[in-house]
Amino acid sequence: MNTEYPDVHLYDTYRREIHKFIPLSKESVSLYACGPTVYDYAHLGNLRSYLFVDVLRRVLELNGYQLNHVMNITDVGHLTSDADSGEDKMEKGARKQGKSAWDIAKFFEKAFFDDLDHLAIKRATTVCRATEHIAEQIEYVEILQQRGYTYRTSDGIYFDTAKLPSYGKLAKLDIEGLQAGARVDIGEKKRLTDFALWKFSGDGQRQMQWLSPWGEGFPGWHIECSAMSEKYLGNKFDIHVGGEDHIPVHHSNEIAQCEGRHDHQPANFWMHGYFLQLGKEKLSKSGKSLLLSQLIKRGYDPLAFRYLVLTSHYRSHLQFSIKALDSAATALKRLTKMLSQWPDGGELSADYVLKFMQCINSDLKMPQAMAVLWAVAKSDLQDEDKKATILHFDQVLALSLDRQQVLEAVPQQVIELAEQRQHARAAKHWQQSDELRGKILGLGYVVEDSPQGFTLTKR
Ligand code: AMP
Ligand code: ZN
Repeated sequence: MNTEYPDVHLYDTYRREIHKFIPLSKESVSLYACGPTVYDYAHLGNLRSYLFVDVLRRVLELNGYQLNHVMNITDVGHLTSDADSGEDKMEKGARKQGKSAWDIAKFFEKAFFDDLDHLAIKRATTVCRATEHIAEQIEYVEILQQRGYTYRTSDGIYFDTAKLPSYGKLAKLDIEGLQAGARVDIGEKKRLTDFALWKFSGDGQRQMQWLSPWGEGFPGWHIECSAMSEKYLGNKFDIHVGGEDHIPVHHSNEIAQCEGRHDHQPANFWMHGYFLQLGKEKLSKSGKSLLLSQLIKRGYDPLAFRYLVLTSHYRSHLQFSIKALDSAATALKRLTKMLSQWPDGGELSADYVLKFMQCINSDLKMPQAMAVLWAVAKSDLQDEDKKATILHFDQVLALSLDRQQVLEAVPQQVIELAEQRQHARAAKHWQQSDELRGKILGLGYVVEDSPQGFTLTKR
């Protein structure tokens, strides 16, 4: 831990306050991030959430911490409503696309990781799938049952939230008010906030189902995160993250499960990324959606989206617009161009590094950190020192700010061909892509795909 820097402070949703971050163990920071439900492509909103996790992780790493970062893949059990009604999203996706639920999960998980690579988002140390942890989830439910927190209905085993006086504290849920105002039919549930731990297959239409002590079925959505976070991080860990929509249901229920099993909640800090919006609406898979691949097809550098996200604080909504993306793309190009013109071998500016650390360590104030970056760029420091300092910041920003340098030496014609090839690939025009590769080769360069687009090397 570098003691010259100000301490890391983070906002904890549970306490509704910013607190100094003190990890439970000196060895590593334990971080659990709720992962994607892999029944469709991740939209830019989902990706904003994972960018937030990546920035958090990189900030902690720049402060000298090692990360034990666990992320789940929800490949079963997430119903079309976040609660207990509707169809399993995986099964619905499979039906719509005429494929098996298993194939759908595999396909969209890969697409998700491709998106993360394009955005320079680091992979979690452990990625765990719900379908590969059924035994752990059944065991968890059995313990909750032994401890008297469950009841059975005709469609599953439910968590009895009335048994936990603290239920809903994370979201400051007004249980009585909710119950009184409820217009939804709660079926056989005793209370509106009760939630499924295990659901029965019913009439046997499901592709994904397992045997359990209660009958054939599948786990509820929330139990996977409790079972897997406990398996990989223990029953108390440093930070739990997710999107803001997780506060009232998913995370409130994870807390209930952990309290039911261990009499304490699992995380020291609960952090939530706020939504990306399009106009007044949030981006969502079922409603307004916009994909990273669509931006790439339109010729945008995916890191321009990363830049755009860095200009907002994770606890405020971000309005997406092509105009804002264009400004981000222009700013990013300006920066990489500037850096490519500055010599290497400079020294860090201690003053500016301290300013940068003050911003990022104060609950990830990234817009302010970006302002420090531009202040360095416009300062009267030596060019090589500006470059060294900005590249130091880039460990957190991960905008590949030194990449232009490589491209700068390559003739413009070759770069243009490589860009055309990238667009052809994005549009799956493989033949055109191969022809362009040949042309590039003819001009003496080898083009290769990389997470940020492409690399060009001299033959
Ligand atoms: P899902 O794949 O639907 O389970 O969601 C993956 C992550 O994206 C979760 O952490 C959600 O909270 C988050 N999320 C969903 N919609 C948005 C949005 N419009 N903006 C930011 N994050 C979102
Ligand atoms: Zn979760």
